[in-house]
Amino acid sequence: MTARMGPTVDERVAATVRADVRATRPYVVAHADGLIKLDAMENPYTLPAELRTRIGAAVIDTPLNRYPDGGAEATHAAIADAMRLPEGAALVLGNGSDELIQILSLLVATPGATILSAEPSFVMYRRSADVAQVRYVGVPLGVDFSLDAGAMLAAIERERPALTWLAYPNNPTGNLYDEAAIEAVIAAAPGLVVIDEAYQPFAERSFLPRVMEFPNVVVLRTLSKLGLAGLRLGYAVGNPAWIAEIEKLRPPYNINVLTQVVAPIVLREFGLLESQAAAIRGERARLAGALAAIPGTTVFHTAANFVLVRVPNANAWFTQLRGAGILVKNLDGYHPLTTHCLRITVGTPSENNALLAALAPFA
Ligand SMILES: *Cc1c(COP(=O)(O)O)cnc(C)c1O
Repeated sequence: MTARMGPTVDERVAATVRADVRATRPYVVAHADGLIKLDAMENPYTLPAELRTRIGAAVIDTPLNRYPDGGAEATHAAIADAMRLPEGAALVLGNGSDELIQILSLLVATPGATILSAEPSFVMYRRSADVAQVRYVGVPLGVDFSLDAGAMLAAIERERPALTWLAYPNNPTGNLYDEAAIEAVIAAAPGLVVIDEAYQPFAERSFLPRVMEFPNVVVLRTLSKLGLAGLRLGYAVGNPAWIAEIEKLRPPYNINVLTQVVAPIVLREFGLLESQAAAIRGERARLAGALAAIPGTTVFHTAANFVLVRVPNANAWFTQLRGAGILVKNLDGYHPLTTHCLRITVGTPSENNALLAALAPFA
């Protein structure tokens, strides 16, 4: 054995890895084993046994020793079919829309570029800008979480953003922005505007049919909130000129073989996912009504599969729910506009009942 000379491993890491990366903390996903999981906007319903049997049979015959189809053609076709893409629009697939958010950030990462987002919104917009080493500017929403068109237009004028993020509906607030305000942002933005429609199945509103109207819009979607979070399949739709550039930064085998086998089978039963979404919308109204009846709460209007509620003491509510085996998202301290707010994913009727029962001490 010879003694190692030179710098220690910690010194080598410090001398080699980007300082901003070393200073960053990893994205933490809460452990949810054994808990009622109402923190991550998953669809609480599983697929019917018959469909799972068909998926199982297809998976058995999938060769895991081979790379997936690099172009994921069957999955492309299944999405194009199910989602009724507008005439002339193109499609690119991501390993979740998270991957496409990262790719879009890298796509505009030129020296001096800026990425703009309304805030509070999806955390990955900022994190992905940081990864791409692009300057990020957040523009606060109004106190009612509406898009502040005046502030957005002023920021666009000042910052000339290469990329502007608009989540429609927004996460974590749940609301849909005013369409005219979005159109004004699109018209003013010198760069690309990405309309992130992760919650579209619960909003029944979309810019997808209009995407070809605008020279600078891409619509981002995912199957995650619709009921397939485990598959990791997101997609971006837009003018082929934009999609072709995104395609160049897509890792060649980003959609794995199991996803490519399963997604087309499930998408052929798209009506099933739509009816689950409709059930979730029904429960959303019931849950929002019951939460609003608890003294001191403010339930914000939501077009997503979660309810944002401001409560008298978010930490006390979170702790009470956690003690009852229920995990929600505590947004207190996340942004000044979400002080004392909890984000509660709509669960099954019995999960929602368990949540409401656990809140009895506050009622
Ligand atoms: C959940 C979410 C995503 C990410 O979805 P994946 O496809 O699962 O990566 C993207 N955008 C918003 C606004 C979300 O809330």
